[in-house]
Parts: sequence; C-alpha cells; structure tokens
Amino acid sequence: MAKKDTKYVDVHSMLKAAGKTMFIKFYNDLKDFSLSDKYLCEKVYKESPTAKSPNQRYKVPRAREVFRTNQQIEALELVIRSKKLSADIIAEAKRLLEVELCLVESNEDSSFVNEFNNEFDSKNSDEPFEYNNTPEKPREKSKNSSYVYPRSRKVAFNALKKASFLCEVNSSHDVFIRKNADTTYTEPHHLVPLSAQDKFPDVNLDREQNIVSLCSACHNQLHYGKDYEKILKPLFVDRKELLKLIGIDISYEQLRTYYI
Ligand SMILES: [Zn+2]
Ligand SMILES: [Zn+2]
Repeated sequence: MAKKDTKYVDVHSMLKAAGKTMFIKFYNDLKDFSLSDKYLCEKVYKESPTAKSPNQRYKVPRAREVFRTNQQIEALELVIRSKKLSADIIAEAKRLLEVELCLVESNEDSSFVNEFNNEFDSKNSDEPFEYNNTPEKPREKSKNSSYVYPRSRKVAFNALKKASFLCEVNSSHDVFIRKNADTTYTEPHHLVPLSAQDKFPDVNLDREQNIVSLCSACHNQLHYGKDYEKILKPLFVDRKELLKLIGIDISYEQLRTYYI
C-alpha cells in the first residue's frame, strides 16, 4: 500500500506555510476557487508591501489547501488561539468563524429537514408528549467531523408533536397535509443552533425544548430573511425559561450572534 502523503493534510502545517495573517486578510479570495492561483499571488504581492513575490506562489496553494480539505473552521480556531497576531486579525478571524458556523448550520439544518421528511414516521402522533426537563450531556460528534453534532429524528418529531404540528410563530399559518402521513407539515428548527454546541460543553442542545415547529415560510425567513428577528425574538421569549430548565442559559444578544 502506498504511504499516505500527510505533509499537507495537517491544518497546522498548511497555516504555518501560508502565514496566518495572509490567510485571514485574503480569506474570501482564497476560498473563491474561480480566482486563479496566479491572479491571487499577484494580488497578495500588491497588497502586502513586505511580501516577496516568489513566496506567494508557494503560500497561496498552501492556504487554499485548507479550503480544499474543508478545514477552514479548524484553521480559524487555530488563528483565534494564536498569541502572536494583532488584535484586528484575531477579531476578523472571529467574525469569519461566525459566518462559517452559520453556513454549516444552514447546510446541516436543511439536510436534516430533508432526511426527516423522507423518513417521516407518524407513529404515536396522537399520544401526548411531555418534556423531560433533566439536563443531558451532549452526544458524541458525528463521525468524520470535528464540529458537527448528530440530530435525532425522534426528538424533532416529539417537538413537532408538542406543537400539534402547527407553526409556533402563529398557529393559523398555512400548513398542508404530509404526503405519507395524516399530520400537517411543519419543519423542526433548533433555536440555539447545534453549530453552537461547543459553546455549551455540558448540555445537549438537541432537545425538544430547543426545537420549534415552523411552517416552511417562517423557517425560511428565519434562515434567509432580512427580518428574521421578528420571528426569532418572540420564539426566544417563549422558550427562554424552558431552555434554562434543561441547562441552556443564553441571552437574546448571544443567540442573535448565531443568526448572522
Ligand atoms: Zn432551521
Ligand atoms: Zn409560520
């Protein structure tokens, strides 16, 4: 068996070769693979007075390796922990991390909704569901990822059932009957997103208390709408105390930072 080339697999070495400051300064350009390495080398050279031209040819592909191997979140966390960088680079890395986590969340959220719909099982949908308010430890992270946590279909189903399969923004919102079940169609949404699980190391965020039942329009507005706060704020006020009971103590200001 051929020996695996691990030289550039490690995010530490990629960042070290590229330079952390350059990685942050040109983050969005490096991520955009429609820009050629050559174009980017010239841009980095032009905009960094101390850069040496031949060096850029070497650094740009190393920095891009982070995106090619989908390790940008780990890379940003490394930059944030770094002691030698300027405050504005650290602040920018924090902002970029929030954006990345938000992207991860909306991808994970929509693929979960798809999977949930395809496997929808309306068994026991008439039985009442009551919250269990004992705090739980978070589950293990998903395989092959250092920041994605699994979502339970059963827990999501319970949460929708608790809301009588109606929209929790307003129970008169339009809902239709599911194709393979007699229940009305709403989508589960984690109020405190699972992408924030690492910030709550002792408490599971994948709980019924943290999942709201939303009509498609409200769910999309929450993720993609300019006025998402019109939905987020009242939902949060409604759930705040319930979240506290299971150990999720969060202010609205903090919650908002996960919805940029
Ligand atoms: Zn959602
Ligand atoms: Zn709605």
